[in-house]
Amino acid sequence: MKELIIEMESYAKEKNIPIMEKESIAFLMKYIKMKNVKNILEIGSAIGYSSILMASSNLETKVTTIERDETRYMECLKNVKKAGLEKEITVVFQDALEVNLSDVTYDLILIDAAKGQYTKFFEKFKHFLASDGVIVTDNIKFHGYVGNSENIESKNLKGLVGKIENYIEFLKENEEFETKFYDLGDGLSFSIRRK
Ligand code: SAH
Ligand code: MG
Repeated sequence: MKELIIEMESYAKEKNIPIMEKESIAFLMKYIKMKNVKNILEIGSAIGYSSILMASSNLETKVTTIERDETRYMECLKNVKKAGLEKEITVVFQDALEVNLSDVTYDLILIDAAKGQYTKFFEKFKHFLASDGVIVTDNIKFHGYVGNSENIESKNLKGLVGKIENYIEFLKENEEFETKFYDLGDGLSFSIRRK
């Protein structure tokens, strides 16, 4: 297992695949264990790195993960098999905004996909969150660009950073959810329903 994780880390580095930073995934794994989180939905599987680590944090944890890129989806399936976690992890090959979920609820939803669509993901998937569940979002700092967008030259990048800034604003002003921001890795947020 440890070998597989190291193998995945170097594969991701080589192919420029943005897997979660060590600090962030370690924090999330601790949370899953502490809260005995059982059902997880992940938006953005990539090669399965975070799915595998989340599923192995706790004996009872099951993960459903969604990926729209075929090569990554195939790589993810391969890694889940190597980890022996086929029973614990379900990999869905689809655009998350087009997925139809049945009447399930999740204790934890991890948003870690296209940065420009964070608000859309949040609005769609909050309906599948258990009443005391949490929505976790990765890359809230976007490599340090968030809060520093005036110095960015590329229009594309600036647009994307602007969208994350809007998402942060959306979370801060949200009347339904209360959000805590953590300065870990590339920035994590935890949103829970207000009582
Ligand atoms: N959670 C992973 C990293 C995910 S990287 C880990 O830490 O190991 C983000 C992934 O989200 C990419 O592989 C990208 O293809 C996928 N993605 C982006 N937008 C998506 C969407 N709308 N639906 C499904 N997958 C998406
Ligand atoms: Mg990420």
